Amino acid sequence: MERVKIFDTTLRDGEQSPGFSMNINEKVRMAKQLEKLGVDIIEAGFPVASQGDFEAVRMISQSLKKSHVAGLARAHDKDIERAWEAIQHAHHPRIHTFISTSDIHLTHQLRKNREEVLQMAAAAVTKAKSYTDDVEFSAMDATRSDPDYLCQVLEAAIEAGATTVNIPDTVGYTIPVEFAELISYIKRTVPNIDRAVISVHCHNDLGLATANSLAAVLNGARQVECTINGIGERAGNTSLEEIAMIFYTRKEYAQIETSITTQEIYSTSKLLTRITGVRVQPNKAIVGSNAFAHESGIHTDGLLKDKNTYEIMTPESVGVTKSNLVMGKHSGRHALKEELKTRGYELSEENLNKIFTRFKELADTKKDLYDEDLETIVAEIVLRAPDRYKLINLNVVTGNFAIPTATIQMEVEGEPKKDVGMGDGPVDAAFKTIAKITGTKSTLLKYSVESITGGTDAQGVVTVRLEENSQQIVGRGAHNDIIMASVLAYINALNRLEYIKQNPIKTRL
Ligand SMILES: [Zn+2]
Repeated sequence: MERVKIFDTTLRDGEQSPGFSMNINEKVRMAKQLEKLGVDIIEAGFPVASQGDFEAVRMISQSLKKSHVAGLARAHDKDIERAWEAIQHAHHPRIHTFISTSDIHLTHQLRKNREEVLQMAAAAVTKAKSYTDDVEFSAMDATRSDPDYLCQVLEAAIEAGATTVNIPDTVGYTIPVEFAELISYIKRTVPNIDRAVISVHCHNDLGLATANSLAAVLNGARQVECTINGIGERAGNTSLEEIAMIFYTRKEYAQIETSITTQEIYSTSKLLTRITGVRVQPNKAIVGSNAFAHESGIHTDGLLKDKNTYEIMTPESVGVTKSNLVMGKHSGRHALKEELKTRGYELSEENLNKIFTRFKELADTKKDLYDEDLETIVAEIVLRAPDRYKLINLNVVTGNFAIPTATIQMEVEGEPKKDVGMGDGPVDAAFKTIAKITGTKSTLLKYSVESITGGTDAQGVVTVRLEENSQQIVGRGAHNDIIMASVLAYINALNRLEYIKQNPIKTRL
């Protein structure tokens, strides 16, 4: 068996796509879960892009013990210095530097000739190597580059000390047979290729990201760059759960293994959904809600007789289990602390108190508390960015002959503010009033409610998608009162928009 390294870029490529931005706390939480999942290398961000990105990479570097932490850097000294500053305290720091090698990019984006770009690539790797032994070099837009020139650049990068060379299909253009041939060609042609790991980074524009990555591995690539739920620029990246389960389910054929603890896949996917508010499609492979649902009569009949008739992998193997009852009304603060500890949350007394208060509140109105309830409370309280807007009081009047009216008290940067507004329904009235109080001009693109567990006393999770200045953002709120959940979601989205305004991120790979 040979080992393929899993390089996760959920926090970089995934996070930079519209609607997926995360704050520092959320990124650190996600990184810890990725480490638990067994990811070899976590790309934590692009430190030079913004102060927020820098801080996130720095905090992740200090929080992890096993996984390598990569910081992205263009082939410029300033980027590489900044990346190193952010990752230097990681147990295993990696600098990931890149430059484009396709003629289209050279002419239109970089305005440099081939020789200049080759020199820049080598110089960037040399510079990165002066900080750490673990240097990855990416030839951006590799699949649309002249293969011979690509090989020259890779050779120069390896000569300068790159230990991983990445072949990105930046625009999602290649197809499996062609990509397999490119990887073989690189293996045959680059004279010093045995001194580096070949990596691939595929995009899903034609729905081929996973297939292309698989074809590359079967032809010698030994690192796959991927993301949870396949999130990423445009149509997304290779999805980690798919690539991991391919090698788990077909190891006999592929003779490949990974370090992924497959039983952690489902909870990692759920955590990402909870943080970003973006759900996966029900028919998504491995993590979609229908992925293990066998509805047709013939299938169910077969499954009842023998699981292997229609099931190529079990739900348990990816960690899909029934909802667990966690705690009850009489559970104490200590029990809660212990429960959270086993889930990997090390909390300050202040946060623990907040969670406990909300937990008790919920336990008073709701019979049973499940896994999801607890995780949702934690996401609401601990992972939130420092809020500019806070809800103090909400009072809504509605009914079939009252005009829906909302009276809202808020804090805007610590200043108390209050207003009243009417609308077509209670949620509309509340949203209009909040917009008035905060002076924000965002458009509501999407509004949805789901209940996270069964029963009419379940917590409702409201997701809203807002747009302001062509920036889209998702906000989430959970409460067993739907109007409260809606208001919390709306305010959360406004806070996120504010956070993004201060921490813009710009790059593509
Ligand atoms: Zn990418």
